[in-house]
Amino acid sequence: MATTHRKVIIVGSGPAGYTAALYCARAELNPLVFEGSQYGGALMNTTEVENYPGFPSGIMGPDLMTEIRSQAEKFGAELVSDDVVSVDLSGDVKIVRTHDGEFTADAVILAMGSAYKKLGVPREDELSGHGVSWCATCDGFFFRGQNIVVVGGGDTAMEEATFLTRFADHVTVVHRRDGLRASKIMAERAMENPKISFEWNSEVAEIHGEQKVTGLTLRDTVTGQTREVAATGLFIAIGHDPRSGIVADQIELDEEGYILVEGRTTRTNLPGVFAAGDVVDHTYRQAITAAGSGCAAALDAEKFLAALE
Ligand code: FAD
Repeated sequence: MATTHRKVIIVGSGPAGYTAALYCARAELNPLVFEGSQYGGALMNTTEVENYPGFPSGIMGPDLMTEIRSQAEKFGAELVSDDVVSVDLSGDVKIVRTHDGEFTADAVILAMGSAYKKLGVPREDELSGHGVSWCATCDGFFFRGQNIVVVGGGDTAMEEATFLTRFADHVTVVHRRDGLRASKIMAERAMENPKISFEWNSEVAEIHGEQKVTGLTLRDTVTGQTREVAATGLFIAIGHDPRSGIVADQIELDEEGYILVEGRTTRTNLPGVFAAGDVVDHTYRQAITAAGSGCAAALDAEKFLAALE
């Protein structure tokens, strides 16, 4: 590594981090990007991405991320496959630490993404992208004329279930309790939809299928009895955990742990610290919106750095 002090350090390697890196690199800010132990972010765990503009025939998630990564690298972003383990962002000189050392910068862009909550059921990971999904907007289109199960009882689950009725023959909502957590309006909309039915006091015990999901076993949370459900899609909508842990004691977060930014900017409460992508966004959570906010973070950082000169 040429020097340990940089104008900009970027933490995260999803669409937000790499887009920020691309813009910072093209602005000659010589960014240092900590990619984490696994580069590429959430799209490395999916198959076909059909809604990222510029790819009319679709593109595999890992291929898309490899392309964005190499575009950032081509313009001079320096990529380090290491996790940032702690930071000190309060002073004019920002400190970023990995297991290998300490790095400093005038500005830091945080783009750590968010992790979707899993059910913890066997084969859930193996069948991700093959019938198991965490994103109706991303994958609903693949389930035309099929039977889908949505797990969850909050607003997101109701929104996903309602959205999926555009494609699916039938949507079954599986919820652990006998009532929904969702807001009244969202719950009513789902309950009045003739394509949606509910399995109360139920949880997914098993996912069936070798190459693709072919069915599920549900367990009654009260009696423990099990039953089979024929479904080729399983959408898990039980929440996300923003990866804001390393900054939790220094940056303002909302009550769910997402990093708070000022208005339509990417500025956090600390000067010189910017945040982008799913670690900020609990509304849109798309690759293109994450990339867009990564671009915004780079432009905000560039402006901040220009004012220092
Ligand atoms: P992420 O992509 O989550 O990337 C964050 C990165 O930061 C990760 O690589 C992580 O390892 C790294 N990181 C975290 N902490 C640290 C640390 N301390 N140090 C260093 N690095 C760190 N969106 C679409 O638009 N279309 C789709 O078809 C689509 N399909 C999806 C399928 C699946 C299975 C999933 C999970 C998501 C899908 N999405 C899709 C959503 C999309 O992937 C996300 O909205 C997007 O990736 C968010 O980008 P991000 O850069 O904010 O975060």
